[in-house]
Amino acid sequence: PEVPAARAASAKGVPGGHGTDAAGVTITGLHKSFGDNEVLKGIDMSVAPGEVVCLIGASGSGKSTLLRCVNRLETPNAGTITVGEHEATHPDVNLDAMRRQIGMVFQQFNLFPHLSVLENCTITPRRVLGQSKAEAEAEAMAQLDAVGLKHLSERRPDQLSGGQQQRVAIARALTMKPQLMLFDEPTSALDPETVGDVLASMRKLAQAGMTMLVVTHEMGFAREVADRVVFMDQGLVVEEGPAMAVIGDPQQPRTQDFLRRVL
Ligand code: ADP
Ligand code: MG
Repeated sequence: PEVPAARAASAKGVPGGHGTDAAGVTITGLHKSFGDNEVLKGIDMSVAPGEVVCLIGASGSGKSTLLRCVNRLETPNAGTITVGEHEATHPDVNLDAMRRQIGMVFQQFNLFPHLSVLENCTITPRRVLGQSKAEAEAEAMAQLDAVGLKHLSERRPDQLSGGQQQRVAIARALTMKPQLMLFDEPTSALDPETVGDVLASMRKLAQAGMTMLVVTHEMGFAREVADRVVFMDQGLVVEEGPAMAVIGDPQQPRTQDFLRRVL
């Protein structure tokens, strides 16, 4: 898949950007069952370095399970997944090293409620990367500035709107300088009026060249920002292609049905 050259080239050195190389993801023959329930039935898909892929599909189709397999929050039954240099499915994979390259943003923001916004963004770089307080705070403030929330750094999460909390979650993930960002329905739990600011932060990240795999029901976002859209149904990839094609002119009946219901 082609990545717009201008965007791929801008991946480094962007203020508030990640400043490291983007990692790609390759998934081959991925199967995952929970007991008798085969949730992923042989998924092949990839995300090129710097590419933005939106994963769409009905509830229960296996999107979250797929994302969780990528950073090995779930262990696949079969298949291979590589993330940059790391083979996520190899028995000897260094999970800590791999996960340091992957930022994940969930529907529920999972901020530490007893810590300030700034502390939420510095705790992991200090503990895991061994950064000094000053170093971690400088980086955190830069990332909070990038999502427009520097002025709220001393607040606690419960003093912020849902959309602001989600932007903190994005900033927090970026302080770890990930090479890949996974988003699992980041705006689904938000009040409608706060969705736009979160999507704007994600769009900015995409433009900075971040590799992004985004599960979303926001078809407008997918159409504008995604390089490719992948439609999943019942544990299989049914259709994929450029966003304009899959959303604007779907070929498979199941994709057509799904889009008729969400658009
Ligand atoms: P989606 O994100 O597309 O809504 P999920 O990946 O969350 O789909 O779920 C797909 C299926 O896997 C569902 O039937 C769900 O009940 C099942 N499932 C997901 N996680 C678990 C789990 N930890 N244990 C058992 N079943 C699970
Ligand atoms: Mg889900």
